Amino acid sequence: MTASAPRYMARFRCIAEACEDTCCAGLTVPISESRWSLLRQKVAGTPDEARVAALITPNPDGATGQQAGILGKRADGHCAFLDEAKLCSLQRRYGEAVLPDGCSVFPRVLTRWAAQVEMAGSLACPETARLCLLAEDALVREPVPEEQALRPQVARQVAAGDDAWTAHADTVREAMLRLLNRREVPYAARLYALGRMALDLGGFYFPGTTADDTERLAGILREYESADTLASLHTQLEALELPGGPWAGICAAVLRSREAAVSSPRFLALMNAVRASYGGADTHPDRAWELHAARRSALESLHGERVHQYFLHHALNHVLRHPFTEGPSLLNAVFLLVLRASVVRWVLLGHPAVVALLDAPGTPVATLDAAAVEAFQVVAKHVEQAPTFLDFAKGLAGEGPETFARLLILVKGL
Ligand code: SF4
Repeated sequence: MTASAPRYMARFRCIAEACEDTCCAGLTVPISESRWSLLRQKVAGTPDEARVAALITPNPDGATGQQAGILGKRADGHCAFLDEAKLCSLQRRYGEAVLPDGCSVFPRVLTRWAAQVEMAGSLACPETARLCLLAEDALVREPVPEEQALRPQVARQVAAGDDAWTAHADTVREAMLRLLNRREVPYAARLYALGRMALDLGGFYFPGTTADDTERLAGILREYESADTLASLHTQLEALELPGGPWAGICAAVLRSREAAVSSPRFLALMNAVRASYGGADTHPDRAWELHAARRSALESLHGERVHQYFLHHALNHVLRHPFTEGPSLLNAVFLLVLRASVVRWVLLGHPAVVALLDAPGTPVATLDAAAVEAFQVVAKHVEQAPTFLDFAKGLAGEGPETFARLLILVKGL
């Protein structure tokens, strides 16, 4: 087996008690039948036998297999097996082998592309968010020692290559990554180009397609490599006039719905501050947009390059971490990326530290970095993967050409 990862994941080490969050805080942690049974064998006859029996219970959903058991939580929402040093007491005493897959692998996200296992990172961990967003070379991909890609058997399989959709997935993904890296046009124009490319491909390149139109696909990908195409799409996007209020309304609605469902004090405190910074719950989206747009242009002139790096790294990581083949279409995958980026931008520009920084331009960039890590991490942990958010995104995207029209509203907000 060979494995590869972006450089920030090769650098990743859990910082345990120094972490501003804890991976298991506020989340439900399932355990598979086989790990549960191994754990029971390991703790038999030790003082942990009774704890394991009491604190791991059958999944109330009746699930079996991978989700057979659920780990108990303390009153503060942390895992019941977490010790005072914020380390897992089960891992410390019985080794990594007894851990549920989620605990062992997190924040690594493993995907098998043919024979190659790729390891990307979840930005739901503050340390991966820091390493991914702040280092200029974070997204350089390189081979990693096999032992760093823990439990490759849980990797999702993407490109089996048994139909045109998966057979060309790697080629399409590489084209997406190249397009995102085209620095001669702004970030929003690259996302617009990505959406247009997905629209052009969508007529014949979709899940389950039987047409293997390799030449046509290659021709479209080539067209989006062209500097002229990009320049012309950039001009089109610039000329497009769309109100920003709907974009602001969408971002605020996403966060409102998550606030109703999430109990994490860290998430709720930031959401309260962000909402207040945009004028409170009753502010009209058009007014909130005006505030956002003014901040966006002020931040652009102070730290434009730095902010660009955050969002570029987020997008590149998104493409590596979320194989587009799992969605109903390439256009839907692009839509989800743009929606996630929109929500993070809304949070970042509503972050109190960023608002304060705009009034005190001499503030060190480290303050902006810390706010960015918090914004990206909190959204990754509590919004991006939530089933309700994914359902909302699906409904918002609609189908076919309407997805592209709605994508434009989001892209114009970025
Ligand atoms: S969130 Fe990341 S750094 Fe924090 S405890 Fe978990 S793995 Fe370690």
